[in-house]
Amino acid sequence: MIVFGSINMDLVARVPRLPLAKETLLGDDFAQIPGGKGANQAVALARLGIPTYIVGRVGADNFGTALIENLQFAGVQTENITIDRSANSGVALINVDDRGENQIVVVGGANSRIDQDDVNRLINLLPSAMGLLLQLEIPMTAVIAAAKLAKKAHVKVILDPAPAPSYLPDELYQLVEIITPNEVEAGQLVGFTVDGRETAATAATILLERGVKCAIVKLGDRGVLCATDEETFFVPAFSVQAIDTVAAGDAFNAGLAAALAEGLGLREAVIWGAAAGALSVTKRGAQTSLPDRVTFDRFLQEN
Ligand code: ADP
Repeated sequence: MIVFGSINMDLVARVPRLPLAKETLLGDDFAQIPGGKGANQAVALARLGIPTYIVGRVGADNFGTALIENLQFAGVQTENITIDRSANSGVALINVDDRGENQIVVVGGANSRIDQDDVNRLINLLPSAMGLLLQLEIPMTAVIAAAKLAKKAHVKVILDPAPAPSYLPDELYQLVEIITPNEVEAGQLVGFTVDGRETAATAATILLERGVKCAIVKLGDRGVLCATDEETFFVPAFSVQAIDTVAAGDAFNAGLAAALAEGLGLREAVIWGAAAGALSVTKRGAQTSLPDRVTFDRFLQEN
């Protein structure tokens, strides 16, 4: 599998409450945590034992070095990450207060400078790939160019339309095999509130009409709705003790893609996605919460 997307360092401060303008506040704790939707999905895939290549950019700074090492440690192939001497690595500055409320500033840095040179790195990878995972934390022009190359190479594109876009260019829908919005993202794409099975089914129908082959709407702790031209089905969420839902969507996409890489059918793939998503909410953090293959297989067997 290939992941083409963002690589960020999350800088997370624990604060008693969120600061006001002009205020300096003393925090309680600080952590530096690798993130970015692209990196999260790549790490999740590699943890599940799927050979995974990431294409992306980091800056020529300490964060960049740490981010690449982190991906390598998870087993992701990182030769196609560009180290950009003119940019900072992408960062997310996150304040989390005692009530769990947060404040987030994302500075795309090197991720925002992804261009055709990075897209071209896909040319050698695509012929032997089972799929290409895309998200929307890199420039839209690069996402579209990548999807075009994948289509030409007969490689399936799985698009996670996150963070929620107000609009997706029409041509992108035609290039996508599977689109996987959550409720908020689905709502943004179709222009009405998506908040359950019925509205998700209506939204999925609209996304199919726009040209995707399969629309999967992620409904959090209620489960997943999946629709193609042939069938529509619902997979309930696995019952788990949820602690932190960060990266559940990324885990879902990796589980889905892992099943497809192993030749399983769509229904099975959605179940794998739901299992990976469920396991990820039982642990704190983003990449720290992504399950390894042994844990994943045991969970599937027991549930
Ligand atoms: P996102 O993180 O993109 O907002 P969701 O919150 O919908 O996505 O989560 C993705 C998937 O992970 C869900 O469709 C579901 O299968 C699984 N999941 C998320 N939250 C829970 C939960 N509390 N219990 C069980 N499964 C969950």
